[in-house]
Amino acid sequence: MYPLIKALEILEKVPLCNSCLGRQFALLGMGSNNSSRGHALKLVFTMAASYMLRENTEEAIRILKVLATNGMFQPAIETLQKEGIEIGEETRRCYVCSGLMSKKKEVAEKVVSKLKEYDYRNFLIGCHVPTSLTERDDELKALHQIDTGESIKAEFNREVGKLVSAMTGKPVDFKNPDVVAVVNLENLEVTVNSNPLYIAGRYLKHMRGIPQTKWPCRACKGEGCPRCNGTGKMYAESVEELILAPMLEETRGDEGKFHGAGREDIDARMLGTGRPFIVEIKNPKKRNIDLKLLEEKINAYAQGKVEVHSLHFAVKENVRQLKALSEFAPKTYRALVKLDREVTPQELEQLEKQLTGQTIRQKTPRRVAHRRAMKTRLKKVYQVQAKQIDPRTIELVVTCQGGLYVKELVTGDKRRTRPSVSEILQTKAECTELDVIDVGTLTPQEIEEVVEQQ
Ligand SMILES: [Zn+2]
Ligand SMILES: [Zn+2]
Repeated sequence: MYPLIKALEILEKVPLCNSCLGRQFALLGMGSNNSSRGHALKLVFTMAASYMLRENTEEAIRILKVLATNGMFQPAIETLQKEGIEIGEETRRCYVCSGLMSKKKEVAEKVVSKLKEYDYRNFLIGCHVPTSLTERDDELKALHQIDTGESIKAEFNREVGKLVSAMTGKPVDFKNPDVVAVVNLENLEVTVNSNPLYIAGRYLKHMRGIPQTKWPCRACKGEGCPRCNGTGKMYAESVEELILAPMLEETRGDEGKFHGAGREDIDARMLGTGRPFIVEIKNPKKRNIDLKLLEEKINAYAQGKVEVHSLHFAVKENVRQLKALSEFAPKTYRALVKLDREVTPQELEQLEKQLTGQTIRQKTPRRVAHRRAMKTRLKKVYQVQAKQIDPRTIELVVTCQGGLYVKELVTGDKRRTRPSVSEILQTKAECTELDVIDVGTLTPQEIEEVVEQQ
């Protein structure tokens, strides 16, 4: 009888609580738990030894003493007391867990109270087990050649999970839990990590001069200095901050990360149907959010400078797709261009013809060279429409592959972008206003294809 022989053999060596004894046989007998297994083993021995008292008194007393001392087992203690036999031993502590496993209920209550702050549909329990504890458990298994046990971590997480589930009525979710409560078994501290919440949508930027993301002050790198009026920023506001503040307030998250499908220049507006974005909110307390209401809050907060719409929940995977989208999805721009000379309607027609369907060779523009890798991009221009505004001003509507720098398509960037409006018209050309009027979409399949080609 493997479990019986091993259990007594172990208890003769070291004191073990019910859980730590039962855990050595965790794989035997389903629908039970380690504490019950340990209790059952100790009880069977107590019963057997009680019966043995009639004939083999000495051996029976020896076994009962093992159970009373190393087993810390009340029925054995009482049996000995009834026989008038002195145990003569101080109380002992479990060799492996030092009594930790008996604190599962206490820990579960702590977890439940910590989780009160959170809005969650399901949860998972995790724990940090001190190395010394695992080592003692492993050493015991090795010494007694136990191959039917499980780890302390597995038992603790499962059992505390069951208790928390019973107290809250919420299920444990192993795959994608809303919250994870991590217990440090050294001091029984509980830390809750709420899974990030992803909210996607589209934004419009109606006002020029606002960067997409927060831009740290060049002089102080964000510390705050006279140049930035102590704000630590180059610009007072950004699309990111205008959207994030209400989102963090609603979700009570620790921080937010803004992901845009590309970005427009600070001085360019973002119009039309807007640009797709996803916000990742870290450690949200509230995740059951009314997105329509959130949309209204953001739009009120941004005072018409920025506007969001079509908010919906997203998942992590969508961030990667958004990045892929930003690089390749077609974009349509409206550019106001100042020329150094007057141009004829025929020349504008030529310009449209030469740029439509053209592949542009573009070296990283000088103005972004400090933050972008130096390389040559090949980007397609799908369509160009040119309109005369006054003799030396034209308006261009350019639809092109994502990632084309349109300002440089106009100026030529000292022949780093070819061909360009300047090159075709043989005159200096300058982009005085730029708006993004449409950010196209790709189907998930198209995105996958594009990502694979990279
Ligand atoms: Zn124990
Ligand atoms: Zn500064």
